[in-house]
Amino acid sequence: IRTPMNGVIGMTSLLMETKLSGEQRDFVNTIRTSGEALLTIINDILDFSKIESGKMELENMPFDLSLCVEEAFDLFALQASAKKLELTYHIANDVPGWIIGDVTRLRQIIVNLVNNAVKFTPSGSIAVIVKSLSKPTPSGEQMLEFAIQDSGIGIPADRLDRLFKAFSQVDSSTTRKYGGTGLGLAISQRLSQLMGGDVRVESKLGEGSSFIFSIETKAAEIPFEHTAAPFPLGVPAGTVLCIEDHPVTRDYLEANLTAWGLPCEFASNVDEAIELAAKMSAPPSLVIIDGDETESDSVLADAAQIKAPRILMLPFGQSAPLAPDDLPFSVLYKPLKFATVKQAVMQVFRTQGDGHKPAEEQKSNLPLAQEFPLDILLVEDNAVNQKVALRFLQRIGYRADAVGNGLEAVTTLESRRYDLVFMDLQMPIMDGIEASRQIRRRLPADRQPKIVALTANAMQGDRELCLSAGMDDYISKPVKIHEIDAAIRRQFGSEGTPSRLQDSGNSSEF
Ligand code: ADP
Repeated sequence: IRTPMNGVIGMTSLLMETKLSGEQRDFVNTIRTSGEALLTIINDILDFSKIESGKMELENMPFDLSLCVEEAFDLFALQASAKKLELTYHIANDVPGWIIGDVTRLRQIIVNLVNNAVKFTPSGSIAVIVKSLSKPTPSGEQMLEFAIQDSGIGIPADRLDRLFKAFSQVDSSTTRKYGGTGLGLAISQRLSQLMGGDVRVESKLGEGSSFIFSIETKAAEIPFEHTAAPFPLGVPAGTVLCIEDHPVTRDYLEANLTAWGLPCEFASNVDEAIELAAKMSAPPSLVIIDGDETESDSVLADAAQIKAPRILMLPFGQSAPLAPDDLPFSVLYKPLKFATVKQAVMQVFRTQGDGHKPAEEQKSNLPLAQEFPLDILLVEDNAVNQKVALRFLQRIGYRADAVGNGLEAVTTLESRRYDLVFMDLQMPIMDGIEASRQIRRRLPADRQPKIVALTANAMQGDRELCLSAGMDDYISKPVKIHEIDAAIRRQFGSEGTPSRLQDSGNSSEF
């Protein structure tokens, strides 16, 4: 049943690539979305009948529980951020990190329930909370409970009993408004029963619902390469101050930061944070700012009041504020994941002492452009990155020109002289490496610009590649104003600070 359906959907993709009128495109699109919807229904029905006929066999393999939840969240990151829904999870301390079971089917239950939660929650939050219901038996069996809580539309009390019946929806308008087959809950219930547990629901109309399911499982040994490594930077002086008003995300941050040896304190808004920071014996070493607070224009001024030397922002969706130039600053998109949170926290701590200066000091400086008047060309294909970099250059006094790929850069340089080129590496049509080669090959010696690479991933191989293409230096993305500043000083300053590419002692950093 699935194969011909995949054929139908596959053909619509091919058709879309042919020349079509607007109306035809619209029709093809409808065939495609209807096809995808039908495939979902087919998958649900196949799963359901497999369970009902007793043919569903579960796997018993060790897996990482938090990764399972995070993978389920991955599917909803976009929808959740579009509605500004906080999508978050917390796993209680007494739950084993790795368990034995069927990761695909457990994920399927979580996906079904989170899918409903996202569908039926116009605003607010969705949290998955995992706790253990019992101590392990002598043979190691343990019941775990997963609660998927939403702040959505809720379900009328007199409808609660029908929910787990196959093909049933709360009312007939549901399908029209939200789609669905009425099978998701029935499948989730059967799966959790197969895993030795069950599902129940608690709901209040207009306030939200909790779908709570349990499974029987056993703790698995955590593979050596996954054992929690201590935070590599050691414990930095000072506390991490988190502005976080969601209780579950708060628990999540607290559990992780504490596990890495970072003491933390929580405030639910900026004012509280300023008060709290004033009472602390030393300024916090990092301020984490979550959610709505990241959208206010004054957020950076507020952070300055807290005297935060580093900031980590957790905005909803892509509405992140632009990186301020004078603070080690990082943005992390939701839903939060263990690995990315750790990486981001490490990253902001690593930028410590990276030549950054306090705001006042930097503002009192002469604009760099007066010290080094230069014609600058920016080569960057991403429109947002281009805007950000141009704005940074403007702040230090440069009115740079910008082009969108390597080929445009080469032709522009052939017709006009520039002193300095900031060159993105990965671009369509012609990448930065090839463009640099051509610039070095084609332009006469007196027209050769300095070329500074903008690298997304600082890898050892990239450094050699940049050098061999004739580039002079690099800065890593996302670009920060103090790094642009430092690169210009390295290339044009008289002190002769070696550029990063020439300084082989620094190569491991690249
Ligand atoms: P469907 O595929 O139609 O969503 P489900 O079995 O997953 O089928 O859900 C059945 C019905 O239960 C939904 O159509 C909806 O009316 C109701 N429902 C499920 N989850 C929620 C929720 N979190 N909030 C409100 N209503 C819900």
